[in-house]
This record gives sequence, C-alpha cells and structure tokens, in this order.
Amino acid sequence: MKIPTSAHPRIVIIGGGFAGMELAKKLRNKPFQIVLLDKNNYFNFQPLLYQVATSGLEPNSIAFPLRRVFRNARNVFFRMTEVSHIDPENHTVQTGIGPIDYDYLVIATGSQANYFGLDPSKLLPLKSVPQALQLRNHILGEFEKALVADSPEEQKARINFVVVGGGPTGVELAGALGEMKNFVLPRDYPELDFSAMNIFLVEGMDRILPTMSETASSKARSYLEALGVQIHLKTLVKEYQGRAIDINGIQVPSRNLIWTAGVKAASLPGLEEALGKSGRIQVDAFNRIAAYQDIFAIGDVAEMASEDAPRGHPMLAPVAIQQGRLLGQNLLRLQQGQPLKPFEYFDKGTMATIGRNKAVADWGKLHLSGFLAWMAWMFVHLFTLVGFRNKLVVLVNWVYNYFTYDKALRLIIKRGKNQEETFEETVTESVSA
Ligand SMILES: Cc1cc2nc3c(=O)[nH]c(=O)nc-3n(C[C@H](O)[C@H](O)[C@H](O)COP(=O)(O)OP(=O)(O)OC[C@H]3O[C@@H](n4cnc5c(N)ncnc54)[C@H](O)[C@@H]3O)c2cc1C
Repeated sequence: MKIPTSAHPRIVIIGGGFAGMELAKKLRNKPFQIVLLDKNNYFNFQPLLYQVATSGLEPNSIAFPLRRVFRNARNVFFRMTEVSHIDPENHTVQTGIGPIDYDYLVIATGSQANYFGLDPSKLLPLKSVPQALQLRNHILGEFEKALVADSPEEQKARINFVVVGGGPTGVELAGALGEMKNFVLPRDYPELDFSAMNIFLVEGMDRILPTMSETASSKARSYLEALGVQIHLKTLVKEYQGRAIDINGIQVPSRNLIWTAGVKAASLPGLEEALGKSGRIQVDAFNRIAAYQDIFAIGDVAEMASEDAPRGHPMLAPVAIQQGRLLGQNLLRLQQGQPLKPFEYFDKGTMATIGRNKAVADWGKLHLSGFLAWMAWMFVHLFTLVGFRNKLVVLVNWVYNYFTYDKALRLIIKRGKNQEETFEETVTESVSA
C-alpha cells in the first residue's frame, strides 16, 4: 500500500514548490485526499539561493521540510519520489515508487535551467539547493587554488567571475560577489591581489533587469558599477569550454561561468499535445488543461495566455502562490457543483537587491531605490520565508553580516574520499538530514 485508500476524491499534486505547497495548504483537512509528490523532501525558497551560494546563509535557512508543513494535516500524504510520466488515459502517474492513481491531477513542477545549447557540465547553475552549495564550494575553492596557481594567467582565470544573465538573480549574485571582493575576501586571502579580480555581468538585452522599469535598470547598473561589476549588454555567450570566455571580442580567462540566463518549464512526458511553443503546459483561465477535465497545471510550468499576457504570466513566485490558492478554492467549488472563478493576477511588484543598503523596486508606476527599497526587499523576503525559525535565523544572519561586513559561512564542504556517490547526492543528504 503506497497510499491508504480514502472515501474522498484523490488529488495528486506533483511538486511541493510555491504553487504545489500553497494548493496543498489550501486543501488541508478538506474533503479530499491529497497526495503530494516531490523529488526532494523540502520546499526550496529560490529567491535566496544566491545568498547560500555567496556564503551569506545556510541552506537550511531557506529550505523547509514538507512533512513539517503538513504534520497536522490528516488528509495530506507526502511521498518523496520523482514522477517520470503521466498516463491521462488511465488516470495514473508513474513514479519512482510505482504508479499512483488520481481523481484529479495537478502539475506544479516549476522550471529548470535553460542552457541554450551550451555544455551544462562547464557551467555553474543556480536553481536548486545542491547547486547553491556547489557554487559556494566552487567560489571559495577557486581562491584556494588561485593562491597556489602555477602562472599569473591561471591565477586570473581562478578569480575572474562571469555571471551570465542580467535578470534579478544575475544582478543579485553579481552584487553579492562585488561585496565579497570589496569587504570579505581580501581579509581571508591577504596574499592575493584583488585589483586583478574582475566580475562581469553579461546580458543579451540592451539593459539589465529587462523586465523591470528603466529607472530600476539604470539605478541597479550604477549600484553594481560602484561595487566594481563590469556590465556588458547586448552580449550573447555562444561558447564556453571552461577556461576563457569571449566577451565582445575580448578573451577573458575565467573558470567561473555562473549561469542565470534563463529557465524553461519542467514539463513531464505524457502531455506533449498540451505544450505551447515555449514548452509550458497550456491551460485555461482555471488552470485546467483543455483536453482533460481532471488535469490542472499551476506556477512556472503553466502557460495561461490572455490578452494582457499573450505568452502567459511571468515565472514568478507570486503567480505560483496565487494560482495554487485559487485552484484550491476552485477544486472545492467543483466538488460543491459551483461555477469556477477565473484567475486574475494581482501584480505585487518586482524588486532586486544589490549588496548592502541598496535595492530597486517597481510597484506599478512607483519606482523605489536605495535604502528604502532595500528595507522593503528584506521585509518582503522575511515575510515570505517558510517557518518561524528560518525567519529568525535569516534575520540574525543579515544583522550580523550588516554590522560586521562579514559572511560567516565560508566553508568548503568536500565529498568524502571513499564514497562513490556524486557531490550532489552528498549535499542532498546533508540538507535533508
Ligand atoms: C535563483 C532564483 C531566484 C528567484 N528569485 C525570485 C524572486 O526574487 N521573486 C520571484 O517572484 N520569483 C523568483 N524566482 C522564481 C520563483 O522561484 C519561481 O517562479 C517559483 O519557484 C515557481 O513556483 P513553482 O511552484 O511553479 O515551482 P518551484 O517552486 O520550482 O517548485 C517545483 C517543485 O517541483 C518539484 N519537481 C519538479 N519536477 C518533479 C518531478 N518530476 N517529480 C517530483 N517533483 C518534481 C521540485 O523539486 C520543486 O519542489 C527565482 C527563481 C530562481 C531559480
């Protein structure tokens, strides 16, 4: 028996991220049996991954065990497993623990990095907790290796960092690297010449933060430049073999290419005919897949095209949360024979932070920057984090970092010598422990 039988209809939710977790919360202790499936046993607060990667926060401050969220929900059954296939004809999903039947299926699998044809083994992505830890290890490891490099060229390649993608993640990461260069690393590595360290931010469009206002873009640019970040616009990275990168005709030696340049939907085999051009699952205004009355998709993976948003809503946490919440209400309405409510996105604005004291924020026509925007950014992120302990630990870390100009978590956690498991598995285990 993988899941106990129930007199209530079974809703299988694939993915315990922003969308899936919100939906399951909405339906806890309601007349449904909820089966929540995720390949990890924790919820990952992706907006703060870059702080794990730059030694500002521990992973367990931004990840939260899903079992803990639902421990008082008698109708929610969590199973840690990866779903490999959907079989709509037989109302079944194939998983690592065998097939699971559903009455209603909700796909909330989010998105995955899009490398646009580049070799992923050469790039440093930032999408998951293991990747953030791997990036932290990599960044710190490169400074250790730079100290013992055989040549000045090799040393340069170790301490030059190229961040590809000028969206909020790339901007925040480049800013955090700039702060590490200015305030943290020279104290740890006094033998290295930090004037030789370069941080590049490379963006294909004609401005950074292209989805935000021009005011936010130009402010963010000036904040980053003050931290020493070199910005290259209208620049596409077409090739990288792990040693040097061509930036507008200049060969920059760098072993550190951090990839934040794009994501694509993490859709699953079995629903190919429902995929749009972008690879997202096309849904109607109720997040339902037209061909199947009992299958829904929410969050990043779903494309709800409308007049206002012809290519679907942006892949953002508030969209995922709001869709999860409304679908919960709609499934209850469906059960009671009431008409469903269409989704309307309430845009709460967008923001990005650049180092200490500086951020940019757009709320409709209001554009905020500097210290006030930074305070707002901190408040919003603390408020949205899951779990009181996480909120407290993150706040304490931020206050500590602010007053000491330090990042306390500069540990390089290496794989055990006699173990055969991959680094990613090691980290996942330590995170889940
Ligand atoms: C580095 C980074 C920074 C970001 N910063 C911001 C920000 O500042 N503000 C903002 O609004 N948005 C931000 N985003 C985007 C935001 O995180 C996403 O829009 C949001 O997570 C989407 O929620 P979701 O529930 O659709 O997907 P996710 O939160 O990604 O959840 C998907 C879940 O599905 C699980 N899953 C996937 N495939 C399978 C499978 N086959 N079987 C089982 N489980 C599976 C995953 O493990 C995951 O738990 C950021 C994203 C990244 C990567």
